[in-house]
This record gives sequence, structure tokens and C-alpha cells, in this order.
Amino acid sequence: MPCIVCPLCRLALERQASSWTCPQGHSFDVAREGYVNLLAVQHKHSREPGDNPGMVQARRAFLDAGHYAPLRQAALALLAPLRASALLDLGCGEGYYTSAFTAAAPDVTGLDIAKPAIRLAARRYAGITWLVGSNAALPLPDESLAVVTSLFSHLQVGEMYRVLRPGGHALVVTPAAPHLHSLREALFDAVREHQPEKFLAGFGPGFELRRNDELRFPLKLQQPALRQLLLMTPYAWKARPERRAALEARQALATEAAFSLMLFRRK
Ligand SMILES: [Zn+2]
Repeated sequence: MPCIVCPLCRLALERQASSWTCPQGHSFDVAREGYVNLLAVQHKHSREPGDNPGMVQARRAFLDAGHYAPLRQAALALLAPLRASALLDLGCGEGYYTSAFTAAAPDVTGLDIAKPAIRLAARRYAGITWLVGSNAALPLPDESLAVVTSLFSHLQVGEMYRVLRPGGHALVVTPAAPHLHSLREALFDAVREHQPEKFLAGFGPGFELRRNDELRFPLKLQQPALRQLLLMTPYAWKARPERRAALEARQALATEAAFSLMLFRRK
């Protein structure tokens, strides 16, 4: 388990019976399932931030069925050669990718702002440190990690830079332009393309891009996978209700998954 620090004052946290406390008296509870809730009230913008239980359950069922297994394999293939000692997965959700990353690093931590997701992760996967926390104030010391991963999570490049060691790596995965194109066509009159380049631009001179791979594979979705995908895809909620309902009622949909996998090295 990595050294974790207080997200408020960055002093080291010490384990007590059922909480972690810092010398300044900030205290964070350890849940029954074993995860630590480090989300300080200051970093919450709502009472229950992040994905709600319905979205989390839908994503777990969808991922368990293996629809995104090629992505998990591709991410692991990029991470394994780095031979990292410690890895932090940001926006880890219910742990589908995080749990696979234990094959790439012995010491793996998953962090997500959504408590329902971390609860589910902690129940299923032992041997991983699970933290409820914010990407904007990572509870880890400066230059303490060899690898940080972020699959579809909200990027805070400055914090990633701070916790990575010089020479450490960041793996960022984001939807590529054609991702779920036919699904979005069914939902919207005008389909806005995903723009991975905009993520690239967010990485300043502190990082160099080592790999920029595009992964594409067909998805043949039947029910209930189609409904689960709609539930776990935030922008689907922006569609007109009748368009969404029509798509939900379909028996099947053929579409394509497309992802950008960007591997950066911290200078
Ligand atoms: Zn503190």
C-alpha cells in the first residue's frame, strides 16, 4: 500500500483503528469494505459526486460481459513493459481496468470520486488500495509514483505531474473520433466527434508523448448490453427522451468502439 497523505494539508496520514488521521487532526473513515473515504467536504461539489449506483451497476454488467476487453488488454500491454512498482488508476470506477493492472505493478491504488463505484470495487477485488477522492487533490506525496493511469476520467494534469516521479509514465485513454458513431447518430441530429487532440494539448512541457495508439473494434450489442451502455454513457442523457427510448427499445445495434491510448513520460 502506498504512503497516503491528507488531501487537505498533505501531511502523512496514519492508520488508526477505523480511520486515517493527519497530525493536524484531519480524519478520514475506513469503510466496512476496506476503502478509505478521503473526499473532504471542500472538494465535493455535490453531496454524492460522481456516477450514481445505477450507472455503476450498468457499467459493471457491461464490462463483465467483456465488451471492452480488447481495451483492457491494450492498456495492459502498454503498461507491463514499464515494470512499475506502484501504479495509481484515476477515475477507476468499479475496478474493471484497475484489477487487471495488478499484472503490471505489484502496488496498485484505485481512486474515484464516486463512492458507489469504490464500494463495489472494494467488495470484489482484494489486494488493491481503494480510495474515494478527487483528481483535483490527490492524496499522494510528490514524486511518489511510477505510473498514473486515467481511463475516461477528468484530467488534472498538474496533479498527475506532481505525484509522478521524474521518468514516470502517465497512460491516458479517451474516446477517439469514431467511438460509438452509429449509437450517437441514433441519439442526435448532429453528431459531435470526440476530440482526443484536445487532451494532448492539455499536457504541457512537463511531459513528452511516447505513444499515441488508436484502438478500434466492432461492437455487436444486444439487450441488455445496449441498455447498459446507454446508462453508463453520460451524453446519452442529453438526447431527446423519445430518441433515447427508441434506441433503448431496439433489440440490437452494431457500432464501433474507438479509443486513443496516449502514453506520456514525465520529464
Ligand atoms: Zn491534514
